[in-house]
Amino acid sequence: MNKEQTNTDNEHIRLRFPPSPTGKIHIGNIRTALFNWLWARKKGGELVLRIEDTDQERSNREFEDIIIQELEWLGLDVDEGPNQGGEHGPYRQSERLDIYKKYRDKLLDNDKAYKCYCTPEELEEMRDKARKKGEMPRYDGRCRNLSSSEQQAKEEAGKEPVIRFKTPVSDKEIVVKDQIRGDVSFDSSVLDDFVIYKSDGMPTYNFAVVIDDALMDITDVIRGEDHLSNTPKQILLYKALDFEIPRFAHLPLILDENKAKLKKRSGEDTVYVGEFRKKGYLPEALFNFLALLGWSPPEEEEILNREEIIQGFSLEDVNKSAAVFDIEKLNWMNGKYIRDADLDQIVELSLPYLREAGYIEDENVSSRQLEKLKKIIEVGRTGVDYLAQIPEETELFFTGLEFEDRQKAQEEFQGSEVELVFKTLIEKLESLETLNPAAVNSIFNEMREELPVGARTIYHPVRLALTGEESGPEMGNIIYILGIEEVKQRLENALQLAD
Ligand code: GLU
Repeated sequence: MNKEQTNTDNEHIRLRFPPSPTGKIHIGNIRTALFNWLWARKKGGELVLRIEDTDQERSNREFEDIIIQELEWLGLDVDEGPNQGGEHGPYRQSERLDIYKKYRDKLLDNDKAYKCYCTPEELEEMRDKARKKGEMPRYDGRCRNLSSSEQQAKEEAGKEPVIRFKTPVSDKEIVVKDQIRGDVSFDSSVLDDFVIYKSDGMPTYNFAVVIDDALMDITDVIRGEDHLSNTPKQILLYKALDFEIPRFAHLPLILDENKAKLKKRSGEDTVYVGEFRKKGYLPEALFNFLALLGWSPPEEEEILNREEIIQGFSLEDVNKSAAVFDIEKLNWMNGKYIRDADLDQIVELSLPYLREAGYIEDENVSSRQLEKLKKIIEVGRTGVDYLAQIPEETELFFTGLEFEDRQKAQEEFQGSEVELVFKTLIEKLESLETLNPAAVNSIFNEMREELPVGARTIYHPVRLALTGEESGPEMGNIIYILGIEEVKQRLENALQLAD
């Protein structure tokens, strides 16, 4: 008798994240990992990392390392896996081949599976025929009832068989009880005798996944909607092997802004987790953003920390409809996290970008230099979406002054009004006890009241003289970072330019 899992509040749940290490880890995969992690942590259950590396040609240990690195970066710790070990190992499918063979043989012995010797040409012919008749292409079952002498003849002719599952005709309708989508019913006549073992001696995904999920005591399978169509096949295998069927939850697809499936855009790698890490997105921000890709918190808030997300998360609140990956929203959210984070953390994370831009040359940064860098980054972080933008945002503090249009600048600095503003500013700065952005802003307010010149003449020529630009960070911040000596120097140079 097959039992199906039912939901009870205090039941111990076991979840899994089983990526195939065939490429860099994609936003869609990490969202699946996150939702599994959230449900495991919310329910006090366990999360298993299983590496599905049976595709010998495409699987690669380097990709496995990347997957593990990105999970760690996002703080998605697992309870069992290739590095953690555990009682249900091994956790790489390539190390479980004997286990799959045992179950394959069990199905063969029980006449629930059979060897198929059809060649690719024969299969193509079958598909062709079905297409011409307007039917779904399916395997016609011609190897189902080969006699042992027929099998022997094929084998002697050197044909390597695949193993096909004898899809039972008794199951007319297969119902996937999905925790997100409700009951999804499949007509079993669309299923053919699908392959469970390839001719290279490797199990197929559908076969290995069922055995692993069953032997690893997985209670809930949470994965992308693209796997929903595999689920009826897996249910048939659970039944044939007399395994308990787990609960399923299929997460909505992630679409791009044009409502197309999220994929690599030409010249950009924006779908890989590593690209976000390299560009200086904060893991806390990406975590928050990903959690909202398919899940809507009951209160509809947007900025939620890890603990709040765990507490609020529920599979019931996962949407059925596709989620849209809105990079503008991620940028907004990341910018907010950058501004709200501890400054020392942001400084630490920004230094590599400044080094790469050539703005920091020394191996070790002196504490004086660090103080200055802190001020610069404090200003720079107010204007960025991600930390790789810090060098560009703070360029004016590192490179010499350059006027885009020297002649225009010269004109801008002409006249007694500008001279009055510059001289007053220098005097007022020199009489300050401590230089800080607020004090500088007060000076500008005073000048607006005291000097007989318009507001534009107070701000614009000063900004141009100090930065070479027409716009940029707040004046208080610029002057605070440049320091009085440098400010004096730049203002005097500007006046000389006007002469
Ligand atoms: N290795 C499969 C994948 O990465 C796992 C699918 C599943 O969760 O069953 O798509």
